[in-house]
Amino acid sequence: MNIVVLDGYTLNPGDLSWDGIRDFGNVTVHDRTGHSADQIIKTIGDAEIILTNKTPLTGEILKQVPSVKYIGVLATGYNVVDTAAAKELGIVVANVPAYSTDSVAQLTFALLLEICHHAGAHSEAVYKGDWSRNADFCFWNFPLIELSGKTIGIIGFGRIGQAVAKIAQAFGLKVLANDNNRYPALENENCKYVSLDTLLMESDIISLHCPLTESNREMLNAMSIAKMKDGVLIINTSRGPLVNEADLCSALNSGKVGAAAVDVVSVEPIRPDNPLLKAKNCIMTPHIAWAPKEARLRLMNIAVENLRAFLAGEPVNIVS
Ligand code: NAD
Repeated sequence: MNIVVLDGYTLNPGDLSWDGIRDFGNVTVHDRTGHSADQIIKTIGDAEIILTNKTPLTGEILKQVPSVKYIGVLATGYNVVDTAAAKELGIVVANVPAYSTDSVAQLTFALLLEICHHAGAHSEAVYKGDWSRNADFCFWNFPLIELSGKTIGIIGFGRIGQAVAKIAQAFGLKVLANDNNRYPALENENCKYVSLDTLLMESDIISLHCPLTESNREMLNAMSIAKMKDGVLIINTSRGPLVNEADLCSALNSGKVGAAAVDVVSVEPIRPDNPLLKAKNCIMTPHIAWAPKEARLRLMNIAVENLRAFLAGEPVNIVS
């Protein structure tokens, strides 16, 4: 059986092993395939199994690769695959849920704490000699923020959202959660489900943890930002297109949004003309939330088990 990995480099730049996948057939690992449909079709060839992380698999592409029976998405978010088209064509699509829950929740707080303390920028200033030249025993170049007693709004209260809520409560934050599904057992004195509007209006910090769908594309835009508190802090570790970046840029530059931190942007890698690159008070990381080695190893192991289950006729983690 031919198995093709379309873009394996980010999952395994050399510190993990593909042997688990190799147990199932003849595996070709491509570091990357690019986004051209012709190239993707050529790379897939006559493979029955394909694994993709961010290489897009549109309906048009899937129609032209009739050998494909199974797509393993090497990620939690599976918006790169046209799952409706896959279903129509009888292709099973599986994702890897939950492997990076703790890593993403951790980066969410790394970003929020960076906004609160600017540890990176202050360290740079010290190494530049600013502390040695300072008249007083201390200085700070940004307003410093204490989290305790503030309110964080979490949009998408699934695995990552709930992990973020747990850490948030340890910092003394009050949690407002918004989700299409409500599980009252998750509520407590400091954590309540609210409508999206209430969350937008009452939160000091807003963190996105919902998947990207056609109905929530650019859900954070000029209109929703206008409902937020002045000086609100926004964190996006979910998917870039959830945010209208031009609108966020204007809100940052006007001070309506106090600061933002994003691990994901609308087009990745980031384009040099992305408006957020010129926005005030914006911190960006290059889509690293999922990438600690511990999380990538878990991802690889789950991808192997997903494929084993599919080949045994009992597929798991199906999203098509
Ligand atoms: P999950 O399925 O456990 O939770 C998602 C939650 O969002 C669900 O409870 C769902 O009901 C809710 N939801 C869906 N649409 C919504 C909407 N419009 N408004 C409010 N809630 C909505 O998924 P998860 O494991 O928590 O992951 C969440 C997202 O995080 C993924 O879809 C992915 O986009 C992103 N992610 C990013 C990285 C990264 O490296 N930056 C890594 C992993 C996951």
